[in-house]
Parts: sequence; C-alpha cells; structure tokens
Amino acid sequence: QKRDPHEPEFHQAVQEFLESITPVLTRHPQYMKHGILERLVEPERSISFRVPWVDDAGNTQVNRAFRIQFNSAIGPYKGGLRFHPSVYLGIIKFLGFEQIFKNSLTGLPMGGGKGGSDFDPKDKSDQEVMRFTQSFMTELYRHIGQDTDVPAGDIGVGAREIGYMFGQYKRIHGGHAAGVLTGKGLLYGGSLARKEATGYGCVYFVQEMLSSNGASFKDSKVVISGSGNVSIYAIEKAQQLGAHVIACSDSNGYIHDPQGINLATVKRLKETERLRISEYVKEHPHAEYVEGCSGIWSLPCDIALPCATQNELDLESARTLILNGVKAIGEGANMPTTLQAVELFLENQVLFAPAKAANAGGVAVSGLEMSQNSMRLSWTFEEVDEKLQVIMKNIYSSTVQAAEDYGVAGNLVAGANIAGFLKVADTMLAQGIV
Ligand code: NDP
Repeated sequence: QKRDPHEPEFHQAVQEFLESITPVLTRHPQYMKHGILERLVEPERSISFRVPWVDDAGNTQVNRAFRIQFNSAIGPYKGGLRFHPSVYLGIIKFLGFEQIFKNSLTGLPMGGGKGGSDFDPKDKSDQEVMRFTQSFMTELYRHIGQDTDVPAGDIGVGAREIGYMFGQYKRIHGGHAAGVLTGKGLLYGGSLARKEATGYGCVYFVQEMLSSNGASFKDSKVVISGSGNVSIYAIEKAQQLGAHVIACSDSNGYIHDPQGINLATVKRLKETERLRISEYVKEHPHAEYVEGCSGIWSLPCDIALPCATQNELDLESARTLILNGVKAIGEGANMPTTLQAVELFLENQVLFAPAKAANAGGVAVSGLEMSQNSMRLSWTFEEVDEKLQVIMKNIYSSTVQAAEDYGVAGNLVAGANIAGFLKVADTMLAQGIV
C-alpha cells in the first residue's frame, strides 16, 4: 500500500488473497523464504502508452492505455482488454492479479495479464471505434504474441473490437498469426462457445455447488446483474436449467420482469442495437424499469449472480439479499462483491462461488481457442461445451479439496485462492528467483 497508495481495487484483491492463503504459508515456510509473495504482487512488466486517434468531427483525441504482464510462471500472459472510462492502472492491476490464479485453476498452461484503456466505446460510431482500436494495436502489437501474451475481450471489448484489433495486428505483423488474440470471430479462427463460455461456465460452477448441497437451478428465482456478454449467457444457461430469471441491468438501471426475462429481446437490444436496457419495457409493458443499478439486489431471489462489474454488491445489498432468503451467490463478474459483503455471506452460510473459480470458463475456452489455432482445426460447439463443463467441475472439486486440506472446509473463496496459488508458487520455486 505504501508503494501504490492510490490503487484501492488492487489492494482489495491482494488483501482477500493474502488472508486466504495464511494457512498455506504457515504450513510451507519455503514460500516466504523465497519471496514468492513479494514477487507475486509485483507485475513482471507494466506497459503504459498513449492512444491518439481522430474523432468523427476531425478532432484529435488522446486516451491512456495499459498492458500489465503480471506473471508468466505457468504459461504466456493471458487476460482480457477492458475499454471503460473508469480504467486506470489500479483496475488493470487488480484484474491482472486475479487472472494469475484464475488461469492456474483452469488447469491450462496460461500466465496472468490484463490490459485496457479509459476509452468509452459506448457513445462512439463504428468508424471511431475502428480508428481507436487500430491506434491502440499499433502500439500494443510489439508486446504481444501467441507464445508471449495473448489478450482477449472484457468490458467494452467484444467481437467488433477484437475484429478491428486482429485486422490491425495482421497488417503490422505481416502474417495471419491467429493465436495472438482470443474471442475472435468464427470466420477467422474464433472458437465456438467462446461467446457463451463465461456465463455458461459460471452457471455450471454454481450448479455443482448447489447440487453438492441438495439444491438446483430448477424452479429457483434468479437475479442476474448486467446485460453484457457474461450476463446474457448466464441468463441463457440458467433458463435452460429451468430457473426463473426475473431481473437484469445495465449501468443506468435494472428491469424486473416477474414473468421471466425475455432473452431474445435483451440480446437484440444489447448485442445488435446497442441500446439501453430501459427499452425492454416498451416491448414488455408488464415489466418495470428502475433507475439505478444497485436496487436490483432488493428483489427477493434464491440465487444472485452479479455479472456486471467490481464492487457492485456491497454490505447493504448483501444484508437485503440475506433478509430476503438468498441461498447462493455466483460471481460472474470480477470482484463484484465487496470484502465485507463476502464475509457476511460466509458468516450466514450462504453458498458463495468466488469469481476466480466461477468465471474461469471464459479464459478456459480462450485456452481451448489457442489450442485449436495451434492445431489448425475447429471443434464443434458440443465438443467445446463438454470440455468447458469438465473444466468447471474440476475447478469446483479442486477448490473444495483445497479448502478441506487447509482447514477451511466449505469456504470456496479460500479454496480457490489456495488451489490457484499452489500451482503458481511451486512453479516459481522450480524456476528460481526470476
Ligand atoms: P460487457 O461490456 O459485455 O458488459 C458489462 C455489463 O455490465 C453491461 O451490462 C454494463 O452496462 C454493465 N456495467 C459496466 N460497468 C458498470 C457499472 N459501473 N455499474 C453497473 N453496471 C455496469 O462486459 P462483460 O460481460 O464481458 O464483463 C462483465 C464482467 O465479467 C466484468 O467484471 C469482466 O471483467 C468479467 N469477466 C468477463 C469475461 C468475459 O469472457 N467477457 C471473463 C471473465 C470475467 P452498460 O452497458 O451500461 O455499460
């Protein structure tokens, strides 16, 4: 905290992690002796650069961008790019730090990294987004590669942005190099089921957690925040499993549809027309739209899946959810629950699926996309989905096992941190002080 006093999100992520792994450090002093923690919290490389571009009115705009190459012990840096006005170094560091352990949990050989910019694609034309992403990639390209660092999407970076970035990378690099980005379009090296992977994976993980505790999604009432990539496919899978999803949101407000969210409408509004979620009630007048997004947690539900952004579920919202009888929380977004809210859920025996484990399905399928690119083949949707389900089940069992092994049985927050840490820490020991 002394070194980087203005990065509260990064401190929050590190604090949760350090508290969890205390029993590991007590049992294995070699990690402290070899400076594993000191090395883990310091990125291997931090890149910061300016992105100049020209808007539709002919004015020059300048954004700030980052790529944090956090840890490459177990594989090339891997992690998404976020375009959102709130992006600064501390946000990218928190995301990159979490990514190290999440990638480790998938069982695939991927290190941790993250990047992004304070550019806001929301109110920009396609041409502006293209000019920005081309300028962004003109600097980023020299730092990435299929064996060094493989970015993907995140908030504000979807198929359109990845497409423009890939086009620019290809042009500068001079070869197709499909493996340099994941989340690509299906026409040029993308993987089937990548779009669905984070949302589906989150629901698969929560399903494992529920079924181990004698419950299921079937006939349960579910609230899912956000209406972006993760949220939409979490809604889809939850509905396929028989859940009654009654609400979703965007950064302006939420919709409550007691008859169940009409996903086709949400997909069209958000994926195709890029409109606000408030438009939903024009087509479904029995539903209500409420301004302000945190109110979504006041709706009584059995299962809540925060799938929008960091710290969207605070202590007060957690209290309300518990009073209303919530049984399980599954984090689709990264660090969506504040530290105090997580503690309250655990104290009240609410089943809690932490982001590192529950939302690892996206990066897992990105890893599968890299494999397909290297092998020059494409698996079917069913093949990828089956592998995703196996990976999520394995993450669940290794998380439960690690919690049991270190005396915190049932605490999946600690279990995920411990299981993710052990593999990275042992690899770092094996590779010496680098
Ligand atoms: P999208 O940009 O597709 O969607 C983000 C959603 O969250 C939108 O509905 C957006 O609303 C809403 N949102 C963004 N910021 C805020 C805010 N400050 N307050 C309330 N709502 C907000 O992003 P993704 O769905 O890809 O990502 C969502 C979360 O999941 C992030 O935490 C991301 O890091 C995490 N994640 C994503 C993965 C992926 O594969 N995409 C993988 C693993 C984690 P609006 O449209 O108004 O901006």
